[in-house]
Amino acid sequence: MGMKSTESLKLSKNNKNIRNYQLRIGNLLIDVVKKDIKNLHLSVHPPNGRVRIASPLRVDNETIRLFAISKLGWIRKKQAKFQAQSRQSPREYVSGESHYYKGDRYLLNVIYHQAAPKVVIRNKTYIDIYVRYGSIQEQREQVLTNWYRQQLKAEIPNLIDKWQQIIGVSINDWGVKKMRTKWGTCNIQAKRIWLNLELIKKPTHCLEYVIVHELVHLLERHHGDRFKAYMSKFMPNWSFYKEELNSFPY
Ligand SMILES: [Zn+2]
Repeated sequence: MGMKSTESLKLSKNNKNIRNYQLRIGNLLIDVVKKDIKNLHLSVHPPNGRVRIASPLRVDNETIRLFAISKLGWIRKKQAKFQAQSRQSPREYVSGESHYYKGDRYLLNVIYHQAAPKVVIRNKTYIDIYVRYGSIQEQREQVLTNWYRQQLKAEIPNLIDKWQQIIGVSINDWGVKKMRTKWGTCNIQAKRIWLNLELIKKPTHCLEYVIVHELVHLLERHHGDRFKAYMSKFMPNWSFYKEELNSFPY
């Protein structure tokens, strides 16, 4: 993840506490993950500025806490950056607004008519949304959201077929939903993946990256070296797609 930043600290030796936990400093929550590594690593992750510390098994919790406190300024700065990136003016679903579709920016054009709603891409420039006379903002938004969902659902089956064959796994079910903090999830037992509706606003290779990521979870549950090795085997450019996914405006 290119947006992620890393800090490190030399460690003192101590045998206490080898379990993962959540550290709270004021209103800041930090995921602490104990691993067989040499140094403390602090990272801040898009899109929401989640904070994580990977710690060697031997470092005690007080050392981790002091390390985190010494980096608070840095953490806040990173979080502010992610917040600025994801901030967008509230949408009103009126003509002239920018809306994204498959990685490209379009201008919304609202057309009122007396027939069923529909959405049409025009001249690679406009998203025309046809709504009934008197439609309020919420209804205009609903028309566009329904269309986004249809478009995404039309894209997914071919991509899943393709990558199931390449990776050598198969899922029982998939779905699309709005998710605030994740691009996708995988229920390994049920062999079911969920994909974030927002992915329809991203370039198709970013959607593909998320599908590959979730399918690879059927081979490896965790995000460690083994997982990354699978990703690099199946999709050598995955880290670029991941970075693009988290930096693209929408
Ligand atoms: Zn994952």
